[in-house]
Amino acid sequence: IQQKLNALKENTNNTVNSLLDDLALHLAAKVDAKITNGDTIGLLEGIPFGIKDVYMLQGTYATASSNLLKNYKSPYTATAIQKLLNAGAIPIVKENCDSFGHGSSSENTIFGAVKNASNPDLVGGGSSGGSAVNVAKDYTIFSIGGDTGGSVRQPAGYNHVYGLKPTYGRISRYGLMAYASSTDCVGPIAKSVEDIRIVLNVMSGKDVKDQTSITSSEISEEAIKTLSEFKTLKGLGKIGYFKNFIENDAIDSKIKADFLTAIEKIKAKGIQVKALDFFKSDILVSTYYTLAMAETASNLSRLDGSNYGNRIEDKNLKESYAITRSENFSEETKRRIVGGNQVLSQGFSDEIYLKGLALRDAISENFENDFKEVDIILSPVTPNTPPKIGDSLKDPHAMYLSDAYTVGFSLGQLPTLTIPQGTDTGLQITAAKNNDELVLKFANFLK
Ligand code: GLN
Repeated sequence: IQQKLNALKENTNNTVNSLLDDLALHLAAKVDAKITNGDTIGLLEGIPFGIKDVYMLQGTYATASSNLLKNYKSPYTATAIQKLLNAGAIPIVKENCDSFGHGSSSENTIFGAVKNASNPDLVGGGSSGGSAVNVAKDYTIFSIGGDTGGSVRQPAGYNHVYGLKPTYGRISRYGLMAYASSTDCVGPIAKSVEDIRIVLNVMSGKDVKDQTSITSSEISEEAIKTLSEFKTLKGLGKIGYFKNFIENDAIDSKIKADFLTAIEKIKAKGIQVKALDFFKSDILVSTYYTLAMAETASNLSRLDGSNYGNRIEDKNLKESYAITRSENFSEETKRRIVGGNQVLSQGFSDEIYLKGLALRDAISENFENDFKEVDIILSPVTPNTPPKIGDSLKDPHAMYLSDAYTVGFSLGQLPTLTIPQGTDTGLQITAAKNNDELVLKFANFLK
């Protein structure tokens, strides 16, 4: 634990918002004592992990990489994190990320841009960039990111590690700062399918504190490993991919070529592959951003300085709220609050917000039909390779478009996993709702 803390302290990738030295060393001493006593040690006991800085862990900073919450400390602990603590895992760091999860590059942060694990001139990816880089660099054994529209899968891809967005509701959101509540998911990042499975099992389960959480059964080691031939699954074993994700001008040629090579390899194993029709990426991106901005405008309205964070006083209450929010939110967060309030306001909501909701239903229905024909949908994680640091901040629209392949699965609330695939973005494996086990099985089969 001490070694990991030292490595984090010296890291030059800007992954750390705060180190949890005291807590980590205290917990480590307890595990040491158990070992000395000859007590049995659980699977996760003593394992160091990182936490994206949008989760509550009682007594520690929870900044969301924002000025507003720079000095805010968690009054309680998130359910997912508590379950890891109960299993004996040791939290060592609160990790840098895009402020409130707003971003795809981990540059929208007061702690400095997160640098990619393989090339420090490139972004770490976002919004859980610090978490993915820490895993890639072995600073943590696993990290807990948050994925609303791709924030676990995308940085996992950019840094060649595994990142899972489980089925919506499988892990309680209690204690995760709300960005867009209808797609927010707790997601583990790790270096193997097996580690993802273990951490997912520990965090899963219905929670009375999150009414959208669901019960699920444990995924056994055997269920994932016994599969030698994918085609034996359900006697079907059909894979699908979206034609228009691959046949367009926006996709990077190397990413396209790598993806098609991956598809050819799968075909060579005797598995049928089907090209499917789907919504155009720009429709997916605009539907997602309409709903995500509306939800974040609503969720972040509580952050006015009266209950949380850095309050700036002005002549009256209204002015104090205004200046607190204007001075303390980033440009990107303000863009989303303004956009969200606009799509929700009278005269716009029918035309834009309600249309977004209708499109979301149509997208979900499309997925339901697809999964009658195929078991798994594959796609690249992003159409592009990791951008250079500085580029995304200059062009937010281009940044939104880099979410083209992740946001649809979020709107569908589907389980989806990034695996490192020898490209600069990774391969995304998606299955029908509640079929998280199949996603992990297929990932294990491909590795
Ligand atoms: N890049 C997407 C956004 O900014 C997704 C972020 C996330 O999943 N938190 O909304």
